[in-house]
Amino acid sequence: MSSFSMHTHTCGELRTSDLGKEVTLTGWVGRRRDHGGLIFIDLRDREGLTQVSFDPDISGGEAFRTAEKVRTEWPLKVVGVVRQRPDANPNLPTGEIEVLASEVEVLNTSKTTPFQIEDHVDISEDIRLRYRYLDLRRPSMMANMRLRSDFTFALREALHARAFMEVETPALFKSTPEGARDFIVPSRLQPGNFYALPQSPQLLKQLLMVGGVERYYQVAKCFRDEDLRADRQPEFTQVDIEMSFVEQDDVMGALEETLADAFSKVGVDMPLPLRRLSYREAMDTYGTDKPDTRYGMELHDVTELFANSSFKVFATAAQTEGHVIKCINAKGAGTWSRGKIDKLSKVAATFGAKGLAWVAFRADGTVNSPIAKFFGEEEMAALREACAVEPGDLLLFAAGSWQLTCEILGGMRVHMAKALELPLEGHDFLWVVDFPLVHWDEDRKAYAAEHQPFTQPEEADLDRLESDPLSVGSHTYDFVMDGYEAGGGGMRIHNAELQMRILKLLGFTEERAREQFGFLMDALEYGAPPMGGFALGLDRVCMLLAGCDSIRDVMAFPKTTNGNDLMSDAPSAVSDQQLKEVGLRLS
Ligand code: ASP
Repeated sequence: MSSFSMHTHTCGELRTSDLGKEVTLTGWVGRRRDHGGLIFIDLRDREGLTQVSFDPDISGGEAFRTAEKVRTEWPLKVVGVVRQRPDANPNLPTGEIEVLASEVEVLNTSKTTPFQIEDHVDISEDIRLRYRYLDLRRPSMMANMRLRSDFTFALREALHARAFMEVETPALFKSTPEGARDFIVPSRLQPGNFYALPQSPQLLKQLLMVGGVERYYQVAKCFRDEDLRADRQPEFTQVDIEMSFVEQDDVMGALEETLADAFSKVGVDMPLPLRRLSYREAMDTYGTDKPDTRYGMELHDVTELFANSSFKVFATAAQTEGHVIKCINAKGAGTWSRGKIDKLSKVAATFGAKGLAWVAFRADGTVNSPIAKFFGEEEMAALREACAVEPGDLLLFAAGSWQLTCEILGGMRVHMAKALELPLEGHDFLWVVDFPLVHWDEDRKAYAAEHQPFTQPEEADLDRLESDPLSVGSHTYDFVMDGYEAGGGGMRIHNAELQMRILKLLGFTEERAREQFGFLMDALEYGAPPMGGFALGLDRVCMLLAGCDSIRDVMAFPKTTNGNDLMSDAPSAVSDQQLKEVGLRLS
């Protein structure tokens, strides 16, 4: 990074092999220390830190006099000679050298910053976001930005190497539903009409396939007006991909290779082929469609075992069609106090449980449990065997509908893994495939697409599409990383009639379907090829690669959970004139 710059070297670059060289560095003043007659400044840029020393006996003392005046975060240009540092700092890559300054130029001054530009300082996130440009100067944030840049570049390279073409699609478009609310933009030239910001380029990439692009990708901004959570933002980035003249295994194969290639460039090994779990298996075994398989604690189905139980809740579940009894074995939690175990029912309630049955196997061989008294000797023995029980184990149970039972224990599994601080080594990658096509949305009292409305149903199930839609499978795949849904995609419908049938199933009238998706169905009638694709949640993947807890830490200018930008104060009011121009009046 040294040509076309005011400096000859960066602040992270100099080593003992550079001793004696005259160099020019630029950067910000970090710590500054006055040591009776000598001044030391840590000069910092995005590449690192170099100690610069100022001696009053050098070059008439002018540089020294300037160094006396400079304050933290002033940007400087320093000319000097690299010399051995007497008090080497082994924690710093440049720690064996320093630059003895002969000239220094103050490039600007700085107000006292609201927080120190260092890692491990305790600052509220609001202050960090209000002064994000200062927060970015901190080494850990800069490392996150660099990781993101490197990984995105690696993906681009991996995609180009496989003949993918980068195409930009518009941000001002029509509603492209992916299950969230649209951000809408009023049109000035056509008052009363609105654009929608794309929830993803889904329809546009399908149209690119009809247009013959064959292999497309885009690092695409997506906009979804949802209530935000730790890992959600109103705008986020997907690496959006689509292929045509392919079958599902072609798409998944190409994706696996591409991803493994890109991950390897940032030092992460993703062994191929990736494990594939069906949605059903994932739910049955881990209680979630995005399992972290770096630890076990799998769900055991013990329905049969309790077919004639004297514990009413279990007997009823065992005798009800479609209901199950399942449990997890949280090894190590069997020694917890009764009070501590009882508190787990509050956690289970957040996943929809009405209560939480448990059996603790104490280290001394005794059993402690509010429900064990209902179990016969045989039931207990069978339970011990089914769950490979050892002293110190805690069994947590859920009973009821398959879906809810799985979900409750899936939630508890994650909770217990955290509570027991199970070691999580390396990264965990897998596919979850074969999601159902639709689910029943109780709020809207309608079927809703599980992935999105353009997904190809399982051909063999098509005759049940109207009579038993919940049993219809789909060509879908989610990419799961470390227990997060890191990407997802599917094969698409490329037949206009079938597309209309699906839209009707989802509650569209023919008229509304034409109004919203007529352009898609028109295009499908002009020789649309078989196609499928995927989108990788870039923010989330970078968060996991960087080992952060929030996607905000890998975004340069994220918004708060209220959707505010604390730096610019967006969203903010607009002038009456602006409203008038787009034909709007506030109510
Ligand atoms: N458009 C989908 C999404 O945003 C991804 C895909 O199916 O390619 O989730």
